[in-house]
Formats: sequence, structure tokens, C-alpha cells
Amino acid sequence: MIVVLDEHDSPFHLPLVDFHTHIGRVKIETTKGASQRVNRPQDIINLYEKLQYEIHRRITQNQDAYYVTLLEAEKISQPLLPAVQMLLELNSNKSRGWIVDHIVCFPFNDIFHKKTSPKFVKSNQYVRHQTQSFDFTFRFIPFSRVDATDEGAIEEVKASVALGMRGLKLHTMSQGWIESIVSTSCKEVLQTAGELSIPIIFDVPNKGVAVDITTIAEEARQEVNYPINVILGHSAFDYNSEEIFNCLNKDQMFAETSGMRGKDVEIYFNNVVKVNRWEEKILFGTDSNYFGVLQAADFITFLLSHKFKELVESNSSDIKPLTAAAKILGGNALRIIRPSWFKNPQETLKEHRSSSKGYSTNLQILQTNLKQILTKENITGTIDLAKPETKEHAVQVLSIEHLGRKISFILETKDNYQNIILSPISNLERIDSIPIESIAPREVVSKSRRRKPRLKEQTFLKLLNGGIT
Ligand SMILES: [Zn+2]
Repeated sequence: MIVVLDEHDSPFHLPLVDFHTHIGRVKIETTKGASQRVNRPQDIINLYEKLQYEIHRRITQNQDAYYVTLLEAEKISQPLLPAVQMLLELNSNKSRGWIVDHIVCFPFNDIFHKKTSPKFVKSNQYVRHQTQSFDFTFRFIPFSRVDATDEGAIEEVKASVALGMRGLKLHTMSQGWIESIVSTSCKEVLQTAGELSIPIIFDVPNKGVAVDITTIAEEARQEVNYPINVILGHSAFDYNSEEIFNCLNKDQMFAETSGMRGKDVEIYFNNVVKVNRWEEKILFGTDSNYFGVLQAADFITFLLSHKFKELVESNSSDIKPLTAAAKILGGNALRIIRPSWFKNPQETLKEHRSSSKGYSTNLQILQTNLKQILTKENITGTIDLAKPETKEHAVQVLSIEHLGRKISFILETKDNYQNIILSPISNLERIDSIPIESIAPREVVSKSRRRKPRLKEQTFLKLLNGGIT
């Protein structure tokens, strides 16, 4: 997270999620000969270690241009999960780049991708092995990559998601189907991803491709009853054409920002603020290691500048500049990358039934209850209740994204989990955990005859909606 001080000098935490990075090796052939581009998880972490100082340097050296101030450089980055920092730093003092919370990564058009049929099976495996290690698993979010025109592409998407990948990357130009985006094969891959609740990011080189992707995504959505979240990578490298913003105006369409630099950023925001709910549709990305520290710093510091603040405030509105920045830099990504239990509702219910006999604690039952209700209501979020041995009266935090907004609950357990009290913290203005207003806590558990607690669904949903007014 990036910690900034707002106009009242109170700390505001901006989550940071990079929605576009590559891991692996790719062959580069030029007139001067062949070489390899390599990117490893630690290389990306190192980028963020530098970025922290670059952001600090730019803002402190030109303070008049910014509506936030900063503490010393070492203090502007903070881990989202302090326990992870403790755990990792016990063993080594490697640089950790705590300014970034999560990093989405997927294969390059790499040296392995043609070694299997369908393509990318080995590349996907490589990305998993690199990121699902003790050092990186807490922060890297691996996405799978396929060639949508391959026979077996759908099976590879399903298999890689079953192995822990949480999104899909498609590159129509590198895989040679840029002329046939509007096709049955592409539509079916999109529907598969939607069914698995994973987002799809496309490489988008220009506005024509953006229009084709939007067309096929709309077709795919018409035939199914679940969302298909599609991200236009690089925002099509086009910051000024109406077509791009028309695409973004459709539901379940998003834009990722890698490649934008300097003046581009200002031009882009001058246009994108006309899109309905624009602040919920933009996802920060770097495309590391094609782009690096300078582009990322251009983008992030713009969101903290007076130019951005004035633009947001003149455009309407009830949107607060820092809240918009927090969504763009991380909140939106966390909303559309769903937790792994968020599959289709039937599957979650089935899992619940088949495993409910072996429960050891009531808190676990509560957790399953919660997942069931949230899945049924199509609400995503993180449930931080994974420690069933937690002591009595321990206070935990449950946070949920609902209707594009974040709400957190303080959760207190009593009487061996027979009583659970949820107190919503309305958290609209801040993505961090500072309570703005609280509403009355309520007991949300009813005891059944067998003395197993059960979450009162209606009470819980009322709390959820009441907290978001
Ligand atoms: Zn890329």
C-alpha cells in the first residue's frame, strides 16, 4: 500500500495491484542477432522497490503540484498483510517492495508456448511454479494464457484454474487471430472464463481490436446468465478516441493502463471521466518488464496531483479524488479477481454439503455459511476468518466488496462461537480500516437444535446493505 497524508494530514492507504506483468523467457530476434528477455518474480518486486523512491522524489521535490503529502520515503509503503511481512523477513532481508500488494502475472509469448498442444500448457505451469512458492505466493496472482483458436484451449483454461490460476490472458496478435476475434472459438473461451468467475485481459494494440473484443464479449454475455469481465489491456494505446470510451461504457468492460506515459495520462483522464462510473473501470498495470518505473510513476503521481483532483471535482460530483485513486490503483482489481471459493453457486453448495460432516469448529461453519450467502447474492469479497483456533473474544475483520464498494465488519466471537457479533464499519470514503461511522452491532447467529450456530441470512444481508448507504 502507498501511505499518503490527505489535506487534514491524516494517513490514507492506497492499495496497489499491478494487473499486467509477465513471467518467463522470450526470444527476441533483431537484425543484430537473437537475445532473451527474462522476467522473474523478484525482478518485478525490485521494480516496486525503486518505484517507492521515485514517487517520493517526484512528490517531495514538487510539492505544490500535489494534493497529498508524504512521510519519509521508507514509510510510504506498507504491507497489506503485516503478518506476511513478519513471516518473510524472518528468513531473509531481500527487498520486498511492500508498496505493491498484489501482482497479476502471466506468460510471455515465451520459449515454451509451442511445445505443447494446446499451446501454453508448459508456460502456464512455469508461471505457477515461479509464483506458488513461499516467497511469492502471498502476493502474486497467476493468470493462465491460451490461444483461443487451439483445440483444447477451453480444457487448458479449466485445468489451470483448478491448479490455482485466477484469470486469463489472451493475445490476438501474437497468436495470429487478430482478424477473427468475432468468432465462436473466442466466444466460447470467454463464456468458460465467465463460468469460472475469472476475468479475461486482452492485449489490445488499437481501437479496432477493442471494438471487436467488445462486440464478441457482448455476444457471449447475451447467451449466459453470469458476468464476463473483460479488460482492454493498454487501454488500446489510444487515449483520445471516442470508440475506446464507448467500449468502456458497456457493463463488465474495464481498461488497464500499462504503456501510458507523461502527457498521455492527463489526456486519458480528461476523456475517461465522461464514462459512466469511470472510477470503477480502470485498472493500474505496468506490463513489466516491457515498461517500468518511469511509466508507473507518471501514472501514480498523476492521480495524486492537483490536476487530477480538479478534474474529478469539476466533472461532477460526489467522487472523492483519493477514493477514485484507491479504486484505480487496487480496489477495482481486488473486486474483479474473485477469491478461489467463488465458483458457481451450485458447486459451492455441493462442496458445503459434502464436507459439512467433518467440521471441527463452529467458526468454520460460519465461514461456509458466509460463502454460501455471498455466492448466492453474487457478492465478492475476502473472508478473513481462516483461523478456527482463534481465541475467544478475538476480534477479526471481515471485509466484503459489494456494489463496487467496500465494507468491513468487526467480528467478535463469544461462548465458544455460539455467539458471533458483527459490527459493520462503513468504509466508503477510505479503503483503509479507519471507521467513519458505525451502526449498531447485532448478533447474527442463531442456534439450531443440534447447537450448531448458523448465520442468520436476512440479518446479515440487512447489515450488509445498511452499512452501505
Ligand atoms: Zn503484456
